[in-house]
Amino acid sequence: MIDLRSDTVTRPSAAMRQAMFDAPLGDDVWGDDPSVQRLQDYIAERTGKAAALFFPSGTQSNLVALLSHCQRGDEYIVGQQAHTYRLEGGGAAVLGGIQPQPIENEADGSLPLAKIEAAVKPIDPHFARTRLLTLENTFHGQVLDADYVEAATALARRHGLATHLDGARIGNAAAATGAGLEALCAPFDTVSICCSKGLGAPAGTLLVGPAEFIETARRWRKVVGGGMRQVGMLAAACEYALEHHLPQLTEDHAKAERLAEGLAGIDGITVTSQATNMVFVEFTRPAFDPARLHEWLEERDILVGALYAPRFVTHRDVSMADIDRVIAAFGDYFPVRELA
Ligand SMILES: *Cc1c(COP(=O)(O)O)cnc(C)c1O
Repeated sequence: MIDLRSDTVTRPSAAMRQAMFDAPLGDDVWGDDPSVQRLQDYIAERTGKAAALFFPSGTQSNLVALLSHCQRGDEYIVGQQAHTYRLEGGGAAVLGGIQPQPIENEADGSLPLAKIEAAVKPIDPHFARTRLLTLENTFHGQVLDADYVEAATALARRHGLATHLDGARIGNAAAATGAGLEALCAPFDTVSICCSKGLGAPAGTLLVGPAEFIETARRWRKVVGGGMRQVGMLAAACEYALEHHLPQLTEDHAKAERLAEGLAGIDGITVTSQATNMVFVEFTRPAFDPARLHEWLEERDILVGALYAPRFVTHRDVSMADIDRVIAAFGDYFPVRELA
């Protein structure tokens, strides 16, 4: 199967499985797992932060970040389309009594500075206390502009807000720009980084930030059920992913570029955006039937997500030859205009 639904489908490589098999283990709730300790030290060092904490998922890492930055009755400013706000079950509000203040994202993922500023509430009993600005990088595959990040985080600091980055795919931002993880994380107090997005690890996310913050986060992680025991096997997979697979993400970007070029040449498809490892398209034929295309692709061993909001994601478990097969399958389905 050529699976373009997401980069979450990547599987551990043979070398990663060996690293998992060989990992020394202990009870991490007691702080006894050497592989988890090693991973946390490794990512803290690479991101230039004082400390790090290992989580089973990005959702839990973001939730714990919000619970640690904000108290009940506080508020965080976040993108209307942000994963944290839209795709994590409203956890901060549900479990933390933290009010989201969503702001419509620009197409490039940014939140307009004037709108952020206007959303910061005065200190007054009528209002929730605005405490935190949360951004996302990459956003729908797009790398946030570095000057924008500087300006937005400076604005937050001027208003006394903390800053958190949902950096689930920050590795893609690093690969696309050549900027180091440290430079990308520097403007933010805290950053959440996933190892299961395009990197092959079966699970695992790291939250990095100041030492005292990470101690608070450790408590909240236990509260939400994220204290894990002999979890060094996962930590070893994550360290392997960050060390060996992250630098290879540029290959996924080249595959997405090729896919976008190929699809753009097909009459009936408009490519609306391609950035890092994601391609977004629209189907332009009036009689287009998503169910039929889905079936057509599946018969050719190609899996795609819901075609009402079509997004194709490239990753290490699809090859350039697979991409050419995908382009050919679309080209056979739609009348061909041109294929480079
Ligand atoms: C995947 C993702 C997360 C976390 O998701 P989990 O599936 O819980 O690991 C957070 N933010 C973004 C932008 C993501 O893509």
